[in-house]
Amino acid sequence: MVWPCPLPVDAYVVAGRGVEFPRPACPACAGPLVLWSGYWRHVREAGRCRKIFVPRLRCGSCRVSHALLPAFVLAWRLDVAETVGAVIAEVASGGCGVRPAATRRAVPYTTARGWVRRFRCRALELGTGFAALAVELGEDAVGPVADAGRFALAAIGAAFGAAAGLPGWLALGVWRFACSVSGGRLIAANTTSPYLVVGKRRFMPPVPP
Ligand SMILES: [Zn+2]
Repeated sequence: MVWPCPLPVDAYVVAGRGVEFPRPACPACAGPLVLWSGYWRHVREAGRCRKIFVPRLRCGSCRVSHALLPAFVLAWRLDVAETVGAVIAEVASGGCGVRPAATRRAVPYTTARGWVRRFRCRALELGTGFAALAVELGEDAVGPVADAGRFALAAIGAAFGAAAGLPGWLALGVWRFACSVSGGRLIAANTTSPYLVVGKRRFMPPVPP
């Protein structure tokens, strides 16, 4: 699970175990979740590795626990969502190749190439999901264009544009938004994206400031 965390990475790091996070309902049964330990993981921002605490919540009735990732973290990725998104946006829009984009963000070339490849593989699916979300949020339809990567970028932008009109989302920025609504699986190997299915959307709304 991903919560729409608006905190800068620094503030989240400094808070350590004391970080404040929401208590969402169980995604399976809508029952209450209780804090169930947590774990430490690394996150890299601007070339610097930091350690963050990820709380784990558990549902007593389902007997299942869920990690609660802040929106700047993508599942199984070291780099923050903003870095991953910036590289993908630059390359998929045709702005530049992978190597200069990776250099600019201080990430290894092969890592950046992996993100872009994965995004391209999932582009049509992501574009369709985000375009549907944009429409559901009241935005005009984004038509598929010849290039799937550009379509996905346009759809993500349109969905964020619509969500930004709702309380709390604007401050998160487009890539934390995209991470939140995809449950952290924006470029995950798992190709199911239930969070983007219209009518079954259940991502957590941010708390308005
Ligand atoms: Zn449950």
